Amino acid sequence: MNIGFIGLGNMGGPMAANLAAAGHAVTGFDTAGVVIEGVTPATTAAKAATGQEVVITMLPNGQILRAVADQVIPSMQAGAVLLDCSTVDVESARAVAEQAHNAGLSALDAPVSGGVGGATAGTLTFMVGGDDAGFQIASELFDIMGQKAVHCGPSGNGQAAKICNNMILGATMIVTCEAFALADKLGLDRQAMFDVVSTSSGYSWSMNAYCPAPGIGPQTPADNGYTPGFAAELMLKDLRLAQQAAESADADTPLGAAATALYKQFVEDEDGLGKDFSAMLPRFKTRGHDR
Ligand code: NAD
Repeated sequence: MNIGFIGLGNMGGPMAANLAAAGHAVTGFDTAGVVIEGVTPATTAAKAATGQEVVITMLPNGQILRAVADQVIPSMQAGAVLLDCSTVDVESARAVAEQAHNAGLSALDAPVSGGVGGATAGTLTFMVGGDDAGFQIASELFDIMGQKAVHCGPSGNGQAAKICNNMILGATMIVTCEAFALADKLGLDRQAMFDVVSTSSGYSWSMNAYCPAPGIGPQTPADNGYTPGFAAELMLKDLRLAQQAAESADADTPLGAAATALYKQFVEDEDGLGKDFSAMLPRFKTRGHDR
């Protein structure tokens, strides 16, 4: 396929490289002038998008996505697919899809889970919103960049799935960390705590697959000084998107709100910036009951 790829950062770079390595003709653009092996560089986003069957975007936020959509949609041909893999607000995803549909294009919002490791290994999970025709065309590309793609319904539903998942993840990681800190103070051994919870009703991905306690359970960022992994500031971004969506949809999400406030404090007022999101455990360990 002829593919345009806009946004060749930590995630987009390896995703574009994997598509090129699989034999697709990939033309890329990034404002930072990034060069990716196998990807033909273009001088503007519009040039990268011209004449392509699929244009993929992997950008920092909804505002930038909207600006890039304004640039690329006029140079895309009818029937082509605009495939956004960024994590953005649901409203921006739906607005860009409508703009694409009005220009005769297919549009998909397909945020990912799996991080830089998944992008590099081609094992991402895609949560996809948008039309069936676009999903059929993009499936071949999802198979190269990832291991699973779930079609979640119409435009915006991919982003909705992503923020609901990450709201659960953020709140679950916090309570897992505070439970470890409580167990420490009660004299309960961390290994015993893991052995019980990971096989009892408190189990979760945060405990079983991404245990925040060093030396316990599988190898995780906790075993590497809390180097991300999934950085606390990226978790904060997703939690804020979930709160923004909850507000616009009039949904009551008190634990999501509490998780957002805690990660905001951790990232902006404490030392959480640049640490893995599981570094909440040492944070709780140094705190007492009323602070
Ligand atoms: P990044 O900052 O490394 O990459 C973004 C790239 O977009 C940068 O290279 C930047 O120069 C480029 N860019 C910015 N404005 C542009 C424009 N107008 N035109 C062209 N290029 C432009 O970020 P990332 O880690 O690759 O994340 C990309 C998206 O994926 C984000 O929405 C993020 O939330 C999401 N995501 C990231 C991870 C992760 O672990 N990093 C995991 C899941 C989802």
